[in-house]
Amino acid sequence: MSITKQQVQDCLRQIIIPGTEKDVMSGGMVSDIFIDGAKVIFSLTVPAEKAADFEPLREAAHAAVLALDGVDSAMVALTAERTGGGSAPAGGEGHDHAHRQAAPGSPAGLPAQAPVEGIEKIIAVASGKGGVGKSTTTVNLALALAERGLKVGILDADIYGPSMSRLLAISGRPEPTDDQALLKPMEAYGLQVMSMAFLVDEDTPVIWRGPMVIKALTQMLRDVKWSNLDVLVVDMPPGTGDAQLTMAQQVPLAGAVIVSTPQDLALIDARKGLNMFRKVDTPILGIVENMSTFVCPKCGEISNIFGHGGAKNEAEAKGVRFLGEIPLHMNIRETSDSGKPVMVSAPDGVHADAYRVIAENVAAQLAI
Ligand code: ADP
Repeated sequence: MSITKQQVQDCLRQIIIPGTEKDVMSGGMVSDIFIDGAKVIFSLTVPAEKAADFEPLREAAHAAVLALDGVDSAMVALTAERTGGGSAPAGGEGHDHAHRQAAPGSPAGLPAQAPVEGIEKIIAVASGKGGVGKSTTTVNLALALAERGLKVGILDADIYGPSMSRLLAISGRPEPTDDQALLKPMEAYGLQVMSMAFLVDEDTPVIWRGPMVIKALTQMLRDVKWSNLDVLVVDMPPGTGDAQLTMAQQVPLAGAVIVSTPQDLALIDARKGLNMFRKVDTPILGIVENMSTFVCPKCGEISNIFGHGGAKNEAEAKGVRFLGEIPLHMNIRETSDSGKPVMVSAPDGVHADAYRVIAENVAAQLAI
């Protein structure tokens, strides 16, 4: 029989916070508990300045939950929030998993998804699998939103394959602010941009362990001097695994855009993406169908290489908004891969218009 949240909570009631009479549950330290088969994931919210002191408590909670019948693995992380919008993710084995509503009276006094200073709204662009055009969509959507007069930033959270230096032709490294407290985002085409690609050399392979992923993402989000952004567009890592789920839980998301090709397989993946955001209560802004039709550059004939309308049908069947479709076109690939996105290199073309439709739909839903 599979483990229940209740059983995990009961177990955590036995774990007393040192120096108090309270257990971690009644002390309001435990985030939402996520159970995936025999895997249990949650985080303990602790005051940033005392994070290290709580490591033995984290270990005790981890051992107690792991000892439960029906639990094969437990991922327990310490999550710390700093006042003033910053966060100091505490170390510890396992993935940080905190929920948008910290229990009342949590020691840190702040929800795990505290707003990020300098950013009004954050949206995620996600896909069930890689290579469907998620990053290309992120860039052009961000530019189309900026064209509407909004101040827009991009956070490249695709740390396994960061692409923003290439897509936006950005070189160099981010500079620290004068007080050395934060990093200044890089700039391209009027967008504020942060990516792991700016911090590590492209040819240095980075082997990420789960907790490092979360720490890197949290820092890229919170330790950056974003300035007056109406919206930050987050290019999520592809897939629907732990890193994505954690990301979705750690970031105060106003909504998610799912990018999909019309292929059935991709649609099954897109469906997983939808479910993941639903699990963490993030509103789905809608689905974008990318590589929707192929327009022959020579004769103009339209072919439906990957089938057509799959994402639209899927969206309608799921009661999710269809945000628009982008054709498969050489121009989009070439401009994207050469650092001059189609929104800036061919703003008068039909492809730019296709991104504008999506931006309009997104803006309307966010009321921005
Ligand atoms: P992901 O972020 O999902 O991995 P990318 O945005 O990196 O995908 O796109 C994968 C490849 O497909 C890139 O070479 C990109 O230029 C190309 N591409 C994306 N969208 C289109 C499109 N609509 N038409 C043509 N090529 C595209």
